[in-house]
Amino acid sequence: MVARVIPVDLFDLVIFGATGDLAQRKILPGLYRRWKEGQIPEGSTIIGAARSDVTLDEFLSTTKSALQKYLPAKELDSDKVAGFLAMLDYVPIDARGTDGWQELAARMRTDKVRAFYFSVAPALFGDLAQRLHDHAIAHRQSRIVVEKPFGHDLASARALNATLAAYFHEDQIYRIDHYLGKETVQNLMAVRFANILFEPLWNAQYVDHVQITVAETVGVEGRGEYYDHSGAMRDMVQNHLMQLLCLIAMEPPHHFDPDAMRDEKLKVIRALDPVSAADVVRGQYRGTDGDDYLAESGNPDSRTESFVALKLHVSNWRWKGTPFYLRTGKRLKSRVSEIAVIFKEPPHSIFGAENPWRENVLVIRLQPDEGMDLRVMIKEPGPGGMRLKDVALDMSFAEALGDDLDIPDAYERLIMDVIRGNQTLFMRGDEVEAAWAWVDPVIAVWQARGDTPEPYEPGSTGPEGALMLLHKDGRRWREVR
Ligand code: NAP
Repeated sequence: MVARVIPVDLFDLVIFGATGDLAQRKILPGLYRRWKEGQIPEGSTIIGAARSDVTLDEFLSTTKSALQKYLPAKELDSDKVAGFLAMLDYVPIDARGTDGWQELAARMRTDKVRAFYFSVAPALFGDLAQRLHDHAIAHRQSRIVVEKPFGHDLASARALNATLAAYFHEDQIYRIDHYLGKETVQNLMAVRFANILFEPLWNAQYVDHVQITVAETVGVEGRGEYYDHSGAMRDMVQNHLMQLLCLIAMEPPHHFDPDAMRDEKLKVIRALDPVSAADVVRGQYRGTDGDDYLAESGNPDSRTESFVALKLHVSNWRWKGTPFYLRTGKRLKSRVSEIAVIFKEPPHSIFGAENPWRENVLVIRLQPDEGMDLRVMIKEPGPGGMRLKDVALDMSFAEALGDDLDIPDAYERLIMDVIRGNQTLFMRGDEVEAAWAWVDPVIAVWQARGDTPEPYEPGSTGPEGALMLLHKDGRRWREVR
């Protein structure tokens, strides 16, 4: 099956931080793929900007190497690569300086759709917003894309929102959370809101509990110093896991439009009960030969968590009594992101004790293999009488829709949404603040107590305490495979 590609309008996109890791690894390769698929119209301009005083040729050569490094060889058609590079431009600019802004203004070709991607350290977001405004490079129709982290706590997120609001309207600000750009996440909305099948069961009466797992095999590696000031709660839970939770728990919006969606997500965050200390488990991977959080973070006294597991309650009519268990961590056994909705036991079994009940589970897999499966009980085939077995009705998107289906990477999709002016998959300012308002007191408790995270072995499934968090409720985590 060939994915339908709807071209966007002609645009100018400026990538601040174009020589950095994110731009070279994700943003520019993603834009190349959209260009190759015919989604980017001829005449659009992509302007790289950073402090480095490199020539355009040097920037093009670095970008070409990045395409070769980060995309499979079969994607690199030499004519298409040449066409893509011809769209690129480069202007040296220091976000805090005064030079280069007039030059940038002169290189812009359209005043219709202008987008500015802030792929730089968050400390520079305010400087960029101010200079784009003061030099009249951004107009009322222009958009800015802001990377994570959006603040370090509620106070800093509020301050950043206020700074950006001084120069841009809320409908111009695209706060990116790339989890929302994943195909499966959008499919979750389709499954929930385009089918009658699940909605009647989607509540505390039928859902026993929900598990959200985002497990990484990598450690903090080169990001140790940054990560040590953040930790799993700020780096992953406040944004990615919270967003996934919202999509599972939200009420159907009246329409699939940005504010209707985000209003419903906000209600979920506001309905979260404060989490009790007994319902939070923090861990830190501790190993030998440098495979150790303290060694990688360069802080031998660090109390930062590289793993966190939590039990949450959404206090509303739909979910009262259904716990949501979240866990995320680094240096775990496998790289898995999934949401599992575990349904309750049928009220009465007619098949006897020899056929123990196994729960129905809907699993939404975000990685590694995007898809969904629904575990159901069936009769074991053959003449052995009525023996039941649980099997997966499995849908891998790649298999179901064809291996050559071109599923865009999350960044590709989100950048095209920015160009189209569609904010549905971006976080609104009040949503981000509400998430921090919920997270801050949780962090404050363990900081006040000086809690030390529980050690876990690199390559394991996390600390013992995380298992106990579910065991004490008579439940168990799904296996991280
Ligand atoms: P990076 O590799 O350190 O790149 C930073 C970029 O910013 C470079 O191009 C750098 O080039 C430019 N820069 C630094 N100071 C500047 C200034 N004063 N004025 C203009 N440009 C400046 O960082 P990154 O990993 O790409 O991350 C960029 C942003 O994305 C950060 O907010 C990060 O938190 C976020 N993010 C990154 C990832 C990822 O996977 N990398 C994932 C999620 C979020 P010069 O030194 O030449 O100026």
